[in-house]
Amino acid sequence: MKALIREDLHKIKLVEKPKPQILDPRDAIVKVTLSSICTSDLHIINGAVPNALKGVTLGHEFVGEIIELGSAVTNLSTGDRVSANCETFCGECYFCKRGFINNCQNGGWKLGCSIDGCQAEFVRVPFADTGLTKIPDSLSYSEALFVGDILSSGYFGAELCEVKSDDTVAVIGCGPVGICSMQCARAMGAKQIIGIDIDDYRLNLVKDKGYAHTVINPDKQNVCDEILKLTENKGADCVIEAAGGKNTFQTAWQIARPNAIVALVAMYEENQTLPLPEMYGKNLIFKTGGVDARHCGKLLKMIENKEISTDILISKYFDFNDIEKAYDYFKNKRDNCLKIALKYD
Ligand SMILES: [Zn+2]
Ligand SMILES: [Zn+2]
Repeated sequence: MKALIREDLHKIKLVEKPKPQILDPRDAIVKVTLSSICTSDLHIINGAVPNALKGVTLGHEFVGEIIELGSAVTNLSTGDRVSANCETFCGECYFCKRGFINNCQNGGWKLGCSIDGCQAEFVRVPFADTGLTKIPDSLSYSEALFVGDILSSGYFGAELCEVKSDDTVAVIGCGPVGICSMQCARAMGAKQIIGIDIDDYRLNLVKDKGYAHTVINPDKQNVCDEILKLTENKGADCVIEAAGGKNTFQTAWQIARPNAIVALVAMYEENQTLPLPEMYGKNLIFKTGGVDARHCGKLLKMIENKEISTDILISKYFDFNDIEKAYDYFKNKRDNCLKIALKYD
């Protein structure tokens, strides 16, 4: 089968690999029907992920059809249409039992990092019972593609913030994860959603689609002043930082109202400074975390109920054979690309 590998630092290559086999009774083999490229794949290619193996098949965001199951898989059947969780987790260890599945002692980020991922025709998914979720018949593969990674990340941001009805939620970063956070915050009852980004295309998009009520461009406006104007001088009740830019962490705590929760779901490339003397008395709660994809079933239901939708994030479909072109398109945000989807037939 064809598979895209990280051949070396900064180098990817489409190669022939043997079709994966069941190695553990809890495995499933999935025929990939749609997959995507994630910014984390770019981090691997750039050498920023120490666990990533050379020669590994990239990719961890996908949907597909189960073609083979290990003998210990109980919740799934061959022929099931499934969305995959980007985190591998056992469901049984100390952390999994408490719901902290991204800290699983037997799992973690494996697919497309330390074991072969989904940018191939077939993929072996360990702990299939927890790693795969059946897609409801009424949903297409496109509608379910982002459930196990960016939608889960966006939901996690809103969940960490404990969004309540009547809250004003400020989302820094109007990219794919930020858009997911906005939709989830709205579904949780947020009264006002404010999108912050330096990219006018993305600001216009979230405004036009109704994901944010108001948008702010920090290159053109003073974010703190604008937020105060929009919140009767209080500041935002919830801040979701999904940008990971140079100054975005500072913006995040500055625009938060006293006693707010600031959720940091962005992946930073540098250390950030916590200016405690300046924050004194603001009584902020900071929560950090990457994706915590334990709500895939719930997210699929929310899509089915039309509370959220993510297929709009697919800026362009590519044939899987053109995956190298797709990487170029995604990485360079050509045509203002948000996400791409790879088709396999
Ligand atoms: Zn990812
Ligand atoms: Zn576990």
